[in-house]
Amino acid sequence: MIIDPLHNWFSSNNKTNLITGPCGAESFEQLSKTIEDLNKFKISPSFFRAGVWKPRTRPNSFEGKGEEALKWLAELKQTYNQKIIVEVANAQHAELALKYNIDALWIGARTTGNPFSVQEIADVVKGKNIPILIKNPIHTDLQLWLGAIERFSNNGIKQLAAIHRGFHVYGKTKYRNKPFWNIPIELRTVLPNLPLLCDPSHICGNTELIPQVAQKALDLGFDGLMLESHFNPNIALSDANQQLTPLQLHGLLNNLIIRKVKINLSDKKNTLQELRNLIDEIDEDLLNLLKKRINTISQIATYKKENNIAIFQLERWQEIIRTRAQLADKLGLSRQHVEKICQLLHEESIKHQNNLMNNNN
Ligand code: PEP
Ligand code: MN
Repeated sequence: MIIDPLHNWFSSNNKTNLITGPCGAESFEQLSKTIEDLNKFKISPSFFRAGVWKPRTRPNSFEGKGEEALKWLAELKQTYNQKIIVEVANAQHAELALKYNIDALWIGARTTGNPFSVQEIADVVKGKNIPILIKNPIHTDLQLWLGAIERFSNNGIKQLAAIHRGFHVYGKTKYRNKPFWNIPIELRTVLPNLPLLCDPSHICGNTELIPQVAQKALDLGFDGLMLESHFNPNIALSDANQQLTPLQLHGLLNNLIIRKVKINLSDKKNTLQELRNLIDEIDEDLLNLLKKRINTISQIATYKKENNIAIFQLERWQEIIRTRAQLADKLGLSRQHVEKICQLLHEESIKHQNNLMNNNN
């Protein structure tokens, strides 16, 4: 996959690479007031975002102004010399966005999950020199996310980036879309050169959580942020709770700490290197203990088989959970963390006993 580095097409004069603007383009006045307020605080995003077609979960809510809004954005692009990005969800959207010289397109979470729509958009932009930013699909499927990225790459798009906007989970959580950070980290592991942005607005769903999520994203090495902003979020027609005023965005950007992503460890006396060596030793100890544990489990399996005892013993499992939680408290470890480890150990233990007792190897 040929990927153009972010700095070639995403030049930024902010502290971090930034895409900002309202959730939806509501009126010419709303868009220009938002750009002007951003400019007042010297926020000049690499791309000004605004949804012109809004994929709403339920009907009878604001679904965007469509082509009319593209005309507003095309005019603002000239007036403020500001690059514009919009969301496209089908071929017709993409054709219209190209017609109005929109500078970049993003693929929304609901669209990434639909390979037909992704392919038809990829076919419209085939061979064009336009950045395409691809949000993760709604559900935790890395393959679908990768698949969408590949469809654009296969059609010659090199200015590619991924946007992490969290994942839907059933039930109430503190996030609107749970981050599951391990998934974008896995994406980065598979495609290390692909620029990766974070969209804290759609992860959080409210403005209170945004600073901590934005900081975490930067600390995990994300290359930039997409943040929703509106000159007056109180009157926004969509996502009112999560949009920042330009003043709030200014405060947030000023407070973000940009830490070094790449480090020089050539100095052997480097403290970080020493601590990492220590971690390597601890991990080796842990793996040796795991080996000892699995050997003991083999003996348990032999005993259970000879004495016709079932693998899963509820009382023993309850005892393990209870005593390990107590020990976690005593040691000042997170109960949740220890419980997760116990679950994994128990799962592996059952698998191992099942293999030995039923000759499944
Ligand atoms: C948006 O960015 O306004 C949007 C609809 O996002 P998502 O596709 O992440 O829900
Ligand atoms: Mn939104």
